[in-house]
Amino acid sequence: MRVLKFGGTSVGSPEALRRAAAIVAQELPGGGLVVVSALSGTTDRLLLAMGASSQGDAAAADAAYAALEARHWAVAEALGLAEAVRPHWDPLFENLASLLQGMGLLWEASPRARDATLALGESLSARLFAVLLQSQGQPAAFRDVREVMQTDARHGRARPDLAGLGETCAPWREALAAGALWVTQGFLGSAPDGSTTTLGRGGSDTSATLLGEALGASEVQIWTDVDGVLSADPSLVTQARPIPVMSLREAAALSAYGAKVLHADALAPVGRAGFKLVVANTHRPQGGRTEIRLEAPARRPGEITSVAYKEGVTCLRLPPAQEPELLFQAATRLLEAGASLYGLLATPDGGLLVARGETAESEAVLKELESSGLALHRGWAVVALVGEGLRDEPGKALSLLAPLDGEPISAILAGDTGVSLAFLIQEDRLGELIPRLHAHCIEATPA
Ligand code: ADP
Ligand code: ASP
Ligand code: MG
Repeated sequence: MRVLKFGGTSVGSPEALRRAAAIVAQELPGGGLVVVSALSGTTDRLLLAMGASSQGDAAAADAAYAALEARHWAVAEALGLAEAVRPHWDPLFENLASLLQGMGLLWEASPRARDATLALGESLSARLFAVLLQSQGQPAAFRDVREVMQTDARHGRARPDLAGLGETCAPWREALAAGALWVTQGFLGSAPDGSTTTLGRGGSDTSATLLGEALGASEVQIWTDVDGVLSADPSLVTQARPIPVMSLREAAALSAYGAKVLHADALAPVGRAGFKLVVANTHRPQGGRTEIRLEAPARRPGEITSVAYKEGVTCLRLPPAQEPELLFQAATRLLEAGASLYGLLATPDGGLLVARGETAESEAVLKELESSGLALHRGWAVVALVGEGLRDEPGKALSLLAPLDGEPISAILAGDTGVSLAFLIQEDRLGELIPRLHAHCIEATPA
């Protein structure tokens, strides 16, 4: 059994949808599960509409709604599927209009209401994709992922209940094993009270791998808009190379340090269940692809495979004579509020906490911490060099930082626990330094 996940750009135009349908025909001849994201740009537009509604700007909310609706119908019409999908879409659009109207009346968008609204993006695309497959003679059916994806009640960044997922998936496992072809939504879950939750931006990758684990899949394929995982973000590095095979540890480090191609939570299920994970390009199915394996491919000592970064990072410094306890408490509070932590360092000479406030709640905690004895510095980016070659002796890798000579580096975060060497640079230097590091550490070595 295979799970195929199609990201936003893979379902974002009639041509992409047709290609995705052809990939399903090719990869799932005996059935399987298809997980889809919302049409590209939809989640952003829904957020915009909700922001406008809850600030009382009905005109802007209406405009965002109208654009979203027009775009969806244009895609359905181009595929000749408008009439077939109408019975499924009409109630979803009505629901969306009511939710936005409610937020407009209340001047408020609660996390619960936001998730209910965001869910419409993935629900629209999953319904359309099921209808498209049916129109091509594939025996596909839509199933709502909220039947099985139980989560906690943290709306906006819900955590799946793994034990629950194993249980709720039993009927799905049976039907899929018997040859069903189902299409479902990525990104969404269901809280204990039955309300809709979401798994965080980019969370459809995690939906796919979690479902793969719970369904006992042998393979999960992530179909996106690049030829697999590349050695760097192609929007910053034109020379970025495809990585045909990488270890799970490399992929996990790369996504944890910000490479958007895989959601940071998507790799844990691969480690637990051991299925094959493939990343491939919907627009060039025969092009390059990446296979992520539990076992590491052989790498030369010191060899790195990729460079990742995340901007918008804040450093919290603990002055020398203060109790490190302050730093640990700050870390716990930030994590609980939904921040990402990139480093925690305590030395006799002071301490450092490196965090990114991902949520309004964690931003508020950062502000409070500013007046608690920690010095706060914004505007940093964490950069990570990643590769199995760094595993044994991270100290050797320090020479890789030579291209940064003369640049302000705020901290170096490395240890013998992982496959990465991370450090902080000023955010506005990313555009220049990432290509420079890539040239030195990757282009200068044979592929
Ligand atoms: P999808 O909508 O299919 O989930 P995303 O936009 O979330 O796609 O992720 C794919 C994008 O990730 C690529 O288009 C690329 O811009 C970006 N990206 C960043 N780092 C990398 C990397 N190391 N390898 C491949 N893509 C990367
Ligand atoms: N549509 C959601 C987002 O844009 C989830 C995803 O694409 O994975 O964040
Ligand atoms: Mg994505």
